[in-house]
Amino acid sequence: MLRITDLQLPLDHSESALQAAILQSLNLPADELIHFEVFKRSYDARKKTAIILIYTIDVEVKHEESVLQKNKNNPRISTTPDTSYQFVAQASGKQFKRPVVIGFGPCGLFAALILAQMGYRPIVLERGKTVRERTQDTWGLWRKRELQPESNVQFGEGGAGTFSDGKLYSQIKDPKHYGRKVLTEFVKAGAPDEILYVSKPHIGTFRLVKMIEEMRNSIEALGGEIRFQQRVTDIDIQNGAVQGVQVNDGEYIETNHVVLAIGHSARDTFQMVYDKGIYVEAKPFSVGFRIEHPQSVIDKARFGPNAGNKILGAADYKLVHHASNGRSVYSFCMCPGGTVVAATSEPGRVVTNGMSQYSRNERNANSAIVVGISPADYPGHPLAGIQFQRELESHAYVMGGGNYNAPGQLIGDFLRNTSSTELGAVTPSYKPGITLVNLAAALPGFAIEAIREAIPAFDKKIKGFAMNDGILTGVETRTSSPIRIKRNDETLQSINTKGLYPAGEGAGYAGGILSAGVDGIRVAEAVALSMNKTA
Ligand code: FAD
Repeated sequence: MLRITDLQLPLDHSESALQAAILQSLNLPADELIHFEVFKRSYDARKKTAIILIYTIDVEVKHEESVLQKNKNNPRISTTPDTSYQFVAQASGKQFKRPVVIGFGPCGLFAALILAQMGYRPIVLERGKTVRERTQDTWGLWRKRELQPESNVQFGEGGAGTFSDGKLYSQIKDPKHYGRKVLTEFVKAGAPDEILYVSKPHIGTFRLVKMIEEMRNSIEALGGEIRFQQRVTDIDIQNGAVQGVQVNDGEYIETNHVVLAIGHSARDTFQMVYDKGIYVEAKPFSVGFRIEHPQSVIDKARFGPNAGNKILGAADYKLVHHASNGRSVYSFCMCPGGTVVAATSEPGRVVTNGMSQYSRNERNANSAIVVGISPADYPGHPLAGIQFQRELESHAYVMGGGNYNAPGQLIGDFLRNTSSTELGAVTPSYKPGITLVNLAAALPGFAIEAIREAIPAFDKKIKGFAMNDGILTGVETRTSSPIRIKRNDETLQSINTKGLYPAGEGAGYAGGILSAGVDGIRVAEAVALSMNKTA
């Protein structure tokens, strides 16, 4: 196959125009072309009246070598690289202690899937419930203000991103194309094919739920075991090496290989890990608010007369502002046509996040507007960032009225530093509801100052961003893990605990569904190689 990159066509091009452009790029007569497929499609919307689609195309031609030779000076044409996944090991058939994967979010799921595909029959221990039961419990908070601390947006089958926008892109370096393996497995499990070729794929919540069940079935069919409502409460470490894990303060499972993929909200497990002497350090994260605008405002600002175009879909944005107080403010986890969700896993706390369905056709666009903070803001103890988060979340709960309402404010009032008393044209989507306040008290002064400066600056890029009636809802505190469970770059094992593989978002090695899945693959490979060495 040959690959053509950077093939540009107008947004409204005809189907035949694509084939014509391919033939022209390769300088090829039509009867030499056997087949082509779109490997990637993105767009350039910098000029709203002339949006361009940019393709990467894989082409099968009759005389590949001679076509390649003819185009040897064209940097946009090359041989298609092999992005298929190659297993690094296979279980030998000898007896072994089964590897244990703690957590069944995207990282644990891919670690378990790859281990199962290589024949290592992993045991997965997940504290939450199956995705169907968990959906009921999550709705319980959103509809009835009833939080289940072990079964919620953060905990349960599928992990934190199950009720999400299902964005599947990441800026990680991925020379081995593990991201492709993640997307390919998602498609096998029922995701739409387009996630393989659009530049910013997303799946939305409902599809994710079905896909996760499908992937669980695959792992089990390969001899893996997935146990729910199994919270790991202790890791048995002797002479610096893992010997087993304890579940729900009772059952002991012997193992020498543990993937610790617990996400960023397992605060009790972080404490246990620290208490066991496993090396943990504080790391930077971000705090802020969710912001909501009508999706139509964002579409118009980004796409002008092309707003509503089916190929473009609901518009997103990515914004950064370096505030004069030295803090960076940026948009995070933008959910076009979605809703703001209650995302706490602890009683008496309020945390925001965002989700959408595949169609992204809800009225509002939302994203987190967050300020970067670092251990200098919560000095003294490796776990101090958790305390910092908890204080903000508890305060938000009180500001919201102590009933899981989130504190909210109109953007205009936030900029003027006055409490909101009445909603305007934008209806907040957060469930169970918001209580209008002055959000200035919800975050440290430096963060409020930086966000107040950033919103008008963002309005210069997205017209309407600082609109009076837009809504801010707080607080967004779980942007990434407040700690890193440090591991060796080569073996991927904890720097002081042999056989323990800290992985994914909670350990500080991923941010988002795709990168967590990729990290799961990397760690599964490291486990397999280590198991083969010790077998
Ligand atoms: P998690 O997904 O957090 O999974 C960890 C799992 O470990 C959980 O299921 C938990 O129950 C389990 N666990 C914890 N402690 C224990 C224990 N002691 N014993 C047993 N099990 C345990 N990312 C995107 O890329 N795109 C998005 O659109 C997106 N939207 C999001 C929307 C929401 C509402 C949220 C909350 C997150 C969103 N994210 C999104 C972030 C994404 O979900 C995370 O980056 C990703 O899930 C991290 O994967 P993980 O496997 O490392 O951890």
